[in-house]
Amino acid sequence: MELTERTRNSVTFFGADGIDNAGGAAHGFSTRLGGVSEGMWESLNLGVSRGDDPDHVRENYRRFFAAIGADGKRIATTNQVHGGMVRCVTTADVKADPYDRPGYEADGLMTDLPGVALVVYSADCIPILFYDPVRRVIAAVHAGWRGTAAGIASTAVERMVDVYGCRSEDILAAIGPGIGPDCFETHEDVPNAMTAALSTAVLHHIKIKENGKFAVDLKNINAMRLEQAGLDPDHIAVSHMCTSCNPDKFWSHRKLGTSRGSMAAAIQLL
Ligand SMILES: [Zn+2]
Repeated sequence: MELTERTRNSVTFFGADGIDNAGGAAHGFSTRLGGVSEGMWESLNLGVSRGDDPDHVRENYRRFFAAIGADGKRIATTNQVHGGMVRCVTTADVKADPYDRPGYEADGLMTDLPGVALVVYSADCIPILFYDPVRRVIAAVHAGWRGTAAGIASTAVERMVDVYGCRSEDILAAIGPGIGPDCFETHEDVPNAMTAALSTAVLHHIKIKENGKFAVDLKNINAMRLEQAGLDPDHIAVSHMCTSCNPDKFWSHRKLGTSRGSMAAAIQLL
């Protein structure tokens, strides 16, 4: 599977050809481009806790959902806490307004409810969208380094299998734009957490730099975890886009701190 850049009605986003080809689900990873927000939120800010004008953000949602082909009238979001929890979304969690904040914390959402868009936020962390076209189940995950070490990607697969009877070999997974290894420079706490939590195979995706720090490839560590969870490698798409290297297209938390907007990844069963 591959992720490609698309622009519809001036909204630029990324999507996976394999999910499109399977049919039955709308999905996309947003960029900064195509919205109405101004200043540091220019322009497609989808973050609801960043100080932006709520009416601008609501219009940005409308544009993003229209571009990816989602209804956008019923959505589920979550308070992300860099943990490893994946929540099963039921009708009680569904709302119309992104500013109607949920009362729960989780870094992953999954559902088999048609017409409900699952939304996760990111600005360097790794967004991952899942689709099982056979059982008709979707999931959306936010994986920073803590969530990656906590194995949230494989937890999403395990929960889809346990709760909805999915087969891992049917699941398609798209790993979206996030910080690349050259920009995600860390001290040894991050590689230590990765090797403690995951197999030593993770070392293949961690390099020691000349300055003694570490370059950690979060996207490919998540891809490795998905393969370990039983996904067909051909069913995994990995974005090559680094959110820190492309300031015209993305916000980077590492570069901008809290003075920024936020991207979102969304998926919905049609
Ligand atoms: Zn970069």
